[in-house]
Amino acid sequence: MAHIGIAGAGFSGAVIARELCEAGHTASVFDTRDHIGGNCFTERHENGVMVHRYGPHIFHTNDERVWEYINQFGEMKPYNHKVKTTVRDAVFSLPINLHTINQAFNKTFSPAEAEAFVRDELADGSIADPQNFEQQALSMVGREFYEMFFEGYTRKQWGLDPTRLPASILKRLPVRFNYNDSYFNHPHQAIPAEGYTPIIEAILDHPSITVHLSTELAPADRANYDHIIWTGPLDAWFDYRFGRLGYRTLDFEQFVDDGDFQGTPVMNYGDADVPYTRITEHKHFAPWEEHDATVCFREFSREHTPDDIPYYPVRMVDDKALLEQYLTEAEAETGVSFVGRLGTYRYLDMDVTIAEALATADGLKTAFANGTSAATFFVDPR
Ligand code: UDP
Repeated sequence: MAHIGIAGAGFSGAVIARELCEAGHTASVFDTRDHIGGNCFTERHENGVMVHRYGPHIFHTNDERVWEYINQFGEMKPYNHKVKTTVRDAVFSLPINLHTINQAFNKTFSPAEAEAFVRDELADGSIADPQNFEQQALSMVGREFYEMFFEGYTRKQWGLDPTRLPASILKRLPVRFNYNDSYFNHPHQAIPAEGYTPIIEAILDHPSITVHLSTELAPADRANYDHIIWTGPLDAWFDYRFGRLGYRTLDFEQFVDDGDFQGTPVMNYGDADVPYTRITEHKHFAPWEEHDATVCFREFSREHTPDDIPYYPVRMVDDKALLEQYLTEAEAETGVSFVGRLGTYRYLDMDVTIAEALATADGLKTAFANGTSAATFFVDPR
């Protein structure tokens, strides 16, 4: 039987704690915040609306194991996520779909006509192998759409010229030649009926798990455990010895009102001169609830400083070199596993986080059964 110290009470830490304790081990879970759930934390506003304190989280997956897993711990309500964007005093549907194309160009194209129009009239066919975000957008949808929907938003979101960002960021968004305006393609899309906090509470609810909030798993205490699960920032484990990895942080300006503010959960703002990237209206993430009042967040993105909450790993060229140094160190460590968004310095959706936590727990169970608890496990982000 191994005793595990776990830094972080988000999905990664909770799932690994639960899986290892189910297998007969014990776990102490620490979180420096005064609540569980990490950035998935949800709470009810005093006016009754369920609020995602660190920005909205929509659960979507095509991984049946993960879908079954999360459903054991609470009721997941079907939720079909849609996003609109305001640019140049007009509202469009995202991701770019047939409605967006017809509206933007005042056309009545069929799917085949729209596809031919985008391919022949809009897309830049000279870019065979897009090397950055801008080239990716130009080759997919052309300059007009790039400037409307992506250039301004991306500058605000990442604080960088889109030519300095990887093409992969835009690959998250599809382009569709039909009227399907769902933001995600995954077969399972849902939000917990009572928010994420009770789900993570239920995962952590096991007699062999103890949770310590507002408490750091201090470096001096690491030796007290047979193995450590580190879901904090990768560079923090090494006390930032090579420097700090770059993150974007978010500021949320909350406002409360009566009625329906924007009629939809997420309104993006593509214009560069609007300082925020989007407004989220939280009651629309729980369409099964009825509320007269409403709670909205204006979302501002900026560079992360040591006192801020890290949200998006930047992964620019400089960060990649630094990341490589930390990964080399991580590989040489023993008795610790690096997991999750911060532990592996990747922008992870919740389903991938849970899948990787389950896989890590599987690996650790085998290792502990073989008496090798000092081994290091980490999901290599390279
Ligand atoms: N993006 C954009 N305009 C939009 C929405 C997204 O330019 O209206 C770009 C932006 O660079 C963003 C990326 O596409 O970082 C991925 O978008 P996604 O909606 O997945 O971002 P998230 O909601 O996860 O921040």
